[in-house]
Amino acid sequence: MTGLHAAIDEACAEHEEWLIASRAWLHAHPELSNREEQTAAYVAAQLRELGLDEVRTGVSGHGVVGVLRGGLPGERVIALRADMDALPVRSADGIGPVSHACGHDCHVAVVLTTARVLAGLRDRLPGTVVFFFQPAEEGPPLGEIAGAKAMLDAGALAGVEPTMVFAMHVVFLPKGVVGYHVGNQFAAACAVDITLRGVQAHGSSPWLGVDPMPAAAQVILGAGQLYRQVPAASPVAVSFGHVEDVGRFNIIGESLTLSGTMRSSRQEDMPALKAGLERLVEHSAAAYGCTAELQYHFEIPAVRNEQAWLDAARPTLERVVGAANVVPVEPVMGSDDMAELVNAYGGLYLTYGVQDTRMEGGRIAPVEGGRGLAPNHHPAFYADDASLLGSVRVHAHVAVDHLLGALGAGRVPR
Ligand SMILES: [Zn+2]
Ligand SMILES: [Zn+2]
Repeated sequence: MTGLHAAIDEACAEHEEWLIASRAWLHAHPELSNREEQTAAYVAAQLRELGLDEVRTGVSGHGVVGVLRGGLPGERVIALRADMDALPVRSADGIGPVSHACGHDCHVAVVLTTARVLAGLRDRLPGTVVFFFQPAEEGPPLGEIAGAKAMLDAGALAGVEPTMVFAMHVVFLPKGVVGYHVGNQFAAACAVDITLRGVQAHGSSPWLGVDPMPAAAQVILGAGQLYRQVPAASPVAVSFGHVEDVGRFNIIGESLTLSGTMRSSRQEDMPALKAGLERLVEHSAAAYGCTAELQYHFEIPAVRNEQAWLDAARPTLERVVGAANVVPVEPVMGSDDMAELVNAYGGLYLTYGVQDTRMEGGRIAPVEGGRGLAPNHHPAFYADDASLLGSVRVHAHVAVDHLLGALGAGRVPR
């Protein structure tokens, strides 16, 4: 623990009240993917108030990038990332029909608070800190392009290419626990729309038309078997969360669309998974005399945490939250376009616990008398205010240790 580390912790504590108030404001102003207008305006206003060297706004939609150049010479550039979008989930706390059911309000408040902490210490920082606020992590509406990749393509980090990127996603781990997985911590994913087309008919006389419904049923059931076509040790997930048809109880509709998602823990399994789905769709449609169109969109690579980066970060993580609170976790089948940043520049994307839970034999269980275990995207998802300062401390310490050269020797070759 150096003087600078102590100064970081002191500043973090001073800003806790602001952190919680900021999170409360963001929580009360949720906006859907690629519609984060007031969130982005709020973020930009806060960053400008700090007197950063640069605040880039309107980057590929609502992206905002703040640049803080330290007062000491240094070549390194650390980028801290927060996603800003909410979800169409009616939350149990009465905010809805849109809410921060994935906790991105916490991410924004944490990175903004980290910016306040580090801006106050800028004279002692050898290098540059970039605060990267992105829209549409949950996927933009169909036909729109947005998110981390779109921001990079738009030159979001031109002139401030990071030597490391870092972020943590809030999850139902116990409060204050940092979860890591070496390898793919988040899965590769894509969204898929399948439209099955037949011939419309009266419900009383299906033989006069071609019913797309049984073909759709075959696709849904068959998709549940696709996991048998990739090695069992590498989990995959295929699910359809939305079905749209144009029929009625007494009308056999002409077409039907299935919208779903496919995930693979190994990036390399995605082509086989896609090929299996395509085969299933083509032949299920043919079996019932239908035609089928299949379209992929929103393709996200896996988030890969390299052992070398984790080894480099571990002393910092353990110093900040305690060795017992840096725990290995199972990879999740959720995806995250933080992958674009980690793949491009190197760094880590970890998870951070914000709920009343405990670890028990490698599983996570609710603590008695607490608010329970509520996964991301669930209406009851919550993040405990008191846990958030720990995340600010981790972000700030990782950033400073990277700039000081103590964490990460530049880019890790893959
Ligand atoms: Zn989410
Ligand atoms: Zn999320």
